[in-house]
Amino acid sequence: AKLQGRNTWQFYSGDIRSQICDHIALRREILEAIEGEQFVVYYQPLVDARTGKVRSIEALVRWDHPQRGMVPPNDFIPLAEQTGQIIGIDRWVLRQACLDTVDINASRPASLRIGVAVNISPVHFRRAGFFLEVQRVLEETGLEPYLLELEVTEGVLMSGADKAIEQLKALRHLGVLVTIDDFGTGFSSLSYLRKLPINKVKLDRSFIQSIDHNRDNAAIVQGVITMAHHLGLQVVAEGVETVAEQEYLIKRGCDLLQGFHFSRPVPLAEFMALPAILTAE
Ligand code: C2E
Ligand code: CA
Ligand code: CA
Ligand code: CA
Repeated sequence: AKLQGRNTWQFYSGDIRSQICDHIALRREILEAIEGEQFVVYYQPLVDARTGKVRSIEALVRWDHPQRGMVPPNDFIPLAEQTGQIIGIDRWVLRQACLDTVDINASRPASLRIGVAVNISPVHFRRAGFFLEVQRVLEETGLEPYLLELEVTEGVLMSGADKAIEQLKALRHLGVLVTIDDFGTGFSSLSYLRKLPINKVKLDRSFIQSIDHNRDNAAIVQGVITMAHHLGLQVVAEGVETVAEQEYLIKRGCDLLQGFHFSRPVPLAEFMALPAILTAE
């Protein structure tokens, strides 16, 4: 089975029976992967646009599959969302990311602590007890709440907004930060952000691409930055790949930058070994 776009599986193997077999097989494999600890967390730095230093890292899951090698999230997360298995995956990633971040910060002075951003599937975020889970993980790992950021897509707020807002309030009460991820891809207006207890918006990569010479992207990004700042929110740009994009975003007042230009997502050990210029004072 091969993943095509969002939440749609396209099967090249033909008839419906083999489709169901593929589906069941992958479902079982994901179960084995959770139990067999085949998932790995990679980390990608988010850099302060003004100082150029790493402020936080985003946790991005990979599946270290015994036969297929390193499988990217887009190849299994859509199915895992359909089966509900994403909840188990997200829980594991959340815990691992908190543990790793405690380690990363162990040798850093308080003023240089690095936060961690964890993606939470809408399926998971909407569950009533979600904030209790977060509270427990913080207690068990010892990560300070202000160092944890949860990334949720705007879709979470569009459907079942009341429940989502309750969840956001409970998370804020814990002291955890929340970022609206993939911002701008969901046909929503900025005005609904006004009522939400969130901290950041992350502009989707599609708006950052060639921003230095794409007028449409430039206009959208400028609009989002201006409005977000009025609302007291920080803006993150993801997918920054070139110096020109970086310089453009700095000039326009973007707060945090993330992308291959700084670093690809890497395993913890590699993150620890990144050039000092990125992580030093
Ligand atoms: P996302 O949250 O929008 O994450 C950003 C994606 O863009 C990541 O892909 C990252 O590797 C990639 N990226 C970062 N900088 C650049 C760049 O400069 N150029 C390009 N071309 N790509 C860049 P990745 O790791 O394959 O993750 C894909 C998606 O899978 C994520 O999109 C997120 O929605 C989901 N995901 C990843 N980890 C988790 C997880 O633990 N839980 C959940 N629920 N979803 C996850
Ligand atoms: Ca994200
Ligand atoms: Ca994105
Ligand atoms: Ca995403």
